[in-house]
Amino acid sequence: MAKLDPAQQREFALEIVQTLRRNGHEALWAGGCVRDHLLGIVPQDYDVATSATPDEIRTLFGPRKTLTIGAAFGVVTVLGRKSSGPIEVATFRSDAQYSDGRHPDQVIFTSAEEDARRRDFTINGLFYDPVSEQVIDYVQGQADLAAGVIRAIGQPAERIHEDKLRMLRAVRFTATFDFQIEPSTLQAIQNSAHGITQVSAERIGMEMRRMLIDRNRARAVELLRQTELLKPLLPEVAGVDDLAWQQTLQVLAQIKPSDLSLPLAVLLHPARDRLTVQTVGRRMRWTNKEITRAEWLLEKIPDVQTSQTLPWPHLQRVLIHEGAGDLIAMAEAYAGKFNPNLVSCRKYLAMPPEVLNPTPLVNGADLIAHGLTPGPEFAPLLEQVRDAQLEGTITTCQEALDLVDRLQG
Ligand code: ATP
Ligand code: MG
Repeated sequence: MAKLDPAQQREFALEIVQTLRRNGHEALWAGGCVRDHLLGIVPQDYDVATSATPDEIRTLFGPRKTLTIGAAFGVVTVLGRKSSGPIEVATFRSDAQYSDGRHPDQVIFTSAEEDARRRDFTINGLFYDPVSEQVIDYVQGQADLAAGVIRAIGQPAERIHEDKLRMLRAVRFTATFDFQIEPSTLQAIQNSAHGITQVSAERIGMEMRRMLIDRNRARAVELLRQTELLKPLLPEVAGVDDLAWQQTLQVLAQIKPSDLSLPLAVLLHPARDRLTVQTVGRRMRWTNKEITRAEWLLEKIPDVQTSQTLPWPHLQRVLIHEGAGDLIAMAEAYAGKFNPNLVSCRKYLAMPPEVLNPTPLVNGADLIAHGLTPGPEFAPLLEQVRDAQLEGTITTCQEALDLVDRLQG
């Protein structure tokens, strides 16, 4: 996807509102983008809410500039230039009945006020008029935004019961914005927490990923436990003792991850004997890359923690891995930067690449040229020669081939 320019996105969202207004419709910015704007955060995307029906929106912007995949729910995507990206334009609607705990059975086109009331939390129920630069607030969202409160719109128990995903959204917003959950909303979540399993694995995995990547991940995870969502989501982790749990929170807060794998490894670390990253990762629909790396971190952390007692070729293979920096950072978060095993890992890692990871003295082609027939024994043979090279017992290609002959002999 082309790079979006926040100023262009904003400009396009304003143009759409103006076009709708010129044609006699009400139109406002709505939801998350208003919240972010008021918090001083640059919105990822803008949503426009309007009195125009999907057909009217389509006619106005033209069939070539609109996508109507979501039209049944009142949502039309309006396509802009590459740098402004698409914008979702949704007809004011209320959601009639949820029989599956996740999706409305039907939507009814209504007023702006009712559209505000169908939204999940008061801070997400705000509209903004980008022309007059005024906030339109039917749900006391501004007060909650100022006070830092996540409060369900309407009856918390009902709203949580309708759509169980809201429980995870509440935790995510509370943690990422450093807010508090309003008590009756918290109570409603605790009462319905076991029902989180009705939400699709993809959505659960996506919410969890966003929480774990965010810098407030420790708070998010603590809230998952407090809301009783952790038990149905990660029963093995929910069962760890207090000491291990406190340490997990502290380490989660300390790490500076670049993707999901490191926080994931830390979260699963206290339950590592009771689960496999594969099972949890697949359940959450996390990517293979994320799962494999988290698995590697958990598998190798004992190595760096005991680095001074490991044979160099063994440790070297860990340290030349792409994930070595994260691995040492993780170990440091548990044992402290001054742990001698970790100090020496850092020292090795800082060595020039040709010292840390010298070019192998021989490769498969060299073995063939030396008269060997390719086969399954090649890999272990090359590995033994490599070990000898790293230990410094052989230093030339000839010595490597001599060793091959001895190992073969
Ligand atoms: P973010 O984009 O950071 O995840 P957001 O609040 O913008 O947060 P979106 O999924 O983009 O989330 O949804 C846009 C708006 O749609 C929300 O602000 C909210 O008003 C409404 N909304 C989204 N999901 C739900 C839901 N599950 N129940 C009720 N309203 C929702
Ligand atoms: Mg959004």
